[in-house]
Amino acid sequence: MKRYLSALLVCFIFLQAKAQLAPFELSKDKNYTATYAEVISYYQQLAKKYPAQMKLINYGTTDVGKPLTLVVLSRDKVFDPALIKKQNKRVLLINNGIHPGEPEGIDASMMLTRDLLKNNKLPKDIVLCFIAVYNIDGCLNRGVSRINQNGPRAYGFRGNYKNLDLNRDFIKADSKNAWAFETILNTWQPEVFLDNHTSDGADYQYVMTLIETQKDKQNPILAEYTAKTLSPELYKRMAKSGYEMTPYVEEKRGTPDSGIVSFLETPRFATGYTAQHNIISYITETHMLKPFDKRVWATYDFMQNLFDICQRDAKLIGELKHKADEQVKQQTTFALNWELDEQHYDTLTFKGYEAGHKPSGVSGLPRLYYDESKPFTKTIKYYDNYKASVTADKPLAYVIPQAWQKVIELFKLNNIVMHRLTHDTTLDLQMYYIGDYKTGQRPYEGHYLHSNVKLNPVDAKVKFYAGDYVVYTDQALNRYIVETLEPQGVDSFFAWNFFDPILG
Ligand SMILES: [Zn+2]
Repeated sequence: MKRYLSALLVCFIFLQAKAQLAPFELSKDKNYTATYAEVISYYQQLAKKYPAQMKLINYGTTDVGKPLTLVVLSRDKVFDPALIKKQNKRVLLINNGIHPGEPEGIDASMMLTRDLLKNNKLPKDIVLCFIAVYNIDGCLNRGVSRINQNGPRAYGFRGNYKNLDLNRDFIKADSKNAWAFETILNTWQPEVFLDNHTSDGADYQYVMTLIETQKDKQNPILAEYTAKTLSPELYKRMAKSGYEMTPYVEEKRGTPDSGIVSFLETPRFATGYTAQHNIISYITETHMLKPFDKRVWATYDFMQNLFDICQRDAKLIGELKHKADEQVKQQTTFALNWELDEQHYDTLTFKGYEAGHKPSGVSGLPRLYYDESKPFTKTIKYYDNYKASVTADKPLAYVIPQAWQKVIELFKLNNIVMHRLTHDTTLDLQMYYIGDYKTGQRPYEGHYLHSNVKLNPVDAKVKFYAGDYVVYTDQALNRYIVETLEPQGVDSFFAWNFFDPILG
């Protein structure tokens, strides 16, 4: 009996220890990503174990009817966003599984949250917010959809329940997922944001590549800090962690030898949208041809390094965010679209593989491949400069007729200050006629996107009604206001068909 009891006890202790292991760690070959059910149940168990410093908060719903779960870690046990601001603490928001086939962040976040709690290592001046799984719909649709990706052996699908790519949905907000995300972002108001991904394309020696908010598109105060301090420090620390990084590889022509181009994440992307909110933002892109476990641990190390630097610079980041917000309130001219500066480039040391051609196993035609037995280190061109191709001077205010409900709802969601007209009135103002525009011939993310918009501004008397909205452009969110309302914006509401009835 005694032996039986002690066996039971050992078994119980073993189970207890096991209960803290993530499904990724429990899998023998470390080629496994947690299912949605496993993710939520893991965090629920962890929250039970550390109720003072960890909370799970559900937001809204998603297109598949399940709420978006935010995992919040707070060393001082404060979970009230307003109080966190009052205490001059920073908030970091980490997004996982926007593309469920790129799940490293999901698994890495599960282990990192546990380790921070278990080792009593939560940063003292930062509240950490993790979106457990953003594209729940896609995560539930599990299988193999990125055929040449090197694991995990099953994972979610890119499209959500509506077959939307959620990383194009931040301005048009066609998914309920986007509404829940924007609720989280505008409630917690993070100063730093991270979106975890996996890349395909050219092969090279790095496990992880990095996208930062494109510097010419980022608020200049924040761009200076990220370019001179935060990014170099991340590169340095990741090399020390054993995961040397390179900027995200988008080839100028064919292969990386031709030079690489810095990625332009316009507002439809998560980090383009967060840039409008003056949030320092990064995207990790591990490479899909590297083993899954290495990609997970690289993501884990990246997050730990980011947290450490942000803790060190917590006060400074708060000051810079405040300065950036104040500067944007005063800013008069806004970029609405950008184009690559082909004339000016930097150089960087790149560790790649020689490219070659071999017959495709499918068609027999020559196909490009990268030969891992032929590594090289070369200096390559890095096209890292963008110019504003369209700009607009902000007006004193915009008037939005209440008929445009989705615009009003999105502005409310984004904490835009609006005033309502108290009575019917006629105002002398400038308005635009849409002179010309192009429209995509195929649907893109559920829309026939407009571009190349030409405007004819006219002075006019326009009648408005009681309850219509006036939006002054003296706000920290001026970028969001101007870039969505000016029709020439690459991701304006006009571009995304919000105002198509006026074209009838
Ligand atoms: Zn992705």
